[in-house]
Amino acid sequence: MPSINEKITEEIRKLASSLLDSGTVAAFLGFTKGTLPGRMQPFVARKPEDAQKLHWNSFCVVNLANYLPALLKSFEPPRRPNDPPPEGPLPKVGVLATGCWSRNMVVQIQENQIDRDRVVIVGISSRGMVDRKKLLEKVGGREITSIDEDDHSLTVTGQGFEEKINRWDVVRDNCQTCVHPDPVIYDELIGELGGERKIPDRFRQVDEIEALSIDERWSWFQNEISSCIRCYACRNACPLCYCPTCFVDDSRPQWVGKSIDKVDTALFHILRAYHCAGRCTDCGSCESVCPMGIRMRLFTKKLQKDVLELYDFEPGLDLETPLPLSTYRMDDPQDFILTHIKKGEEK
Ligand code: SF4
Ligand code: SF4
Ligand code: SF4
Repeated sequence: MPSINEKITEEIRKLASSLLDSGTVAAFLGFTKGTLPGRMQPFVARKPEDAQKLHWNSFCVVNLANYLPALLKSFEPPRRPNDPPPEGPLPKVGVLATGCWSRNMVVQIQENQIDRDRVVIVGISSRGMVDRKKLLEKVGGREITSIDEDDHSLTVTGQGFEEKINRWDVVRDNCQTCVHPDPVIYDELIGELGGERKIPDRFRQVDEIEALSIDERWSWFQNEISSCIRCYACRNACPLCYCPTCFVDDSRPQWVGKSIDKVDTALFHILRAYHCAGRCTDCGSCESVCPMGIRMRLFTKKLQKDVLELYDFEPGLDLETPLPLSTYRMDDPQDFILTHIKKGEEK
């Protein structure tokens, strides 16, 4: 009997092939197998026969929304920055969307990065993606040569070992605490919707850090980023980071030094996290691609918690509610700015 992922893969291939064949879309964005076990890579199918290369499993960790603006632009005629937008209907693109990816697409639509009419969103309710680092820990860091996945377990094989691992035990932290696994907008749906999840302690990791003193929090933060090599994989994998020139790359003015000096590195992480405040969907793409295992998602998770508490807002749930930090009213209260300084902790 085919597994859940095999069934989803089959349905993705059938749908992508038919959308490409009918000319509904000019390209279909999904995943194909990478060159190493447990590595999936984004893949653009451009012909119906390419659809056979599409694949779905628990290692599709990179947020596909990240690739949409550039893919859509690749079908537009070239133009200079001040030229008017092209006229007439432009080719559409098909894309897979789990809960958080679809919420990032909503944010992209709200921020005018993608045109809703040019995307055919194929929704999939997410069962959570696997954290490769957790998986490696389970096998004591030994080299993995193959991974077989069924609905609830992974059989991991390497030189002289084979281990069966419970899938949920190695699912990413963000997926384990995700309350919105279903796509919030879609044109086609693969499989069934799973419904909202109730996670009483969804901010547990943030709560633990908040319980520390200011000095302990600062040490925790510095320790967490101490191995950062400033490769910017986290920024590049994030669908919110689409600035033509990022503040870290600017040299006039140079907002932040380009070294791995700890002040420069701290500044990069603090500023990037704040740029994502009220926009981050906790998709985990940034953390999944970090070669150094840095949990920078916790910085944005803290801001996600603050935005929920202060504005009663979660990004990307619908197209209508404006993003709280890109809108204002003249009578907005200002007193919240000081609410998190606890008595006795002022410096
Ligand atoms: S870190 Fe900030 S400036 Fe850089 S790409 Fe992301 S949002 Fe833009
Ligand atoms: S900051 Fe990280 S978790 Fe948030 S949307 Fe970007 S990639 Fe996803
Ligand atoms: S991906 Fe990791 S190592 Fe690279 S800049 Fe981001 S936190 Fe630093």
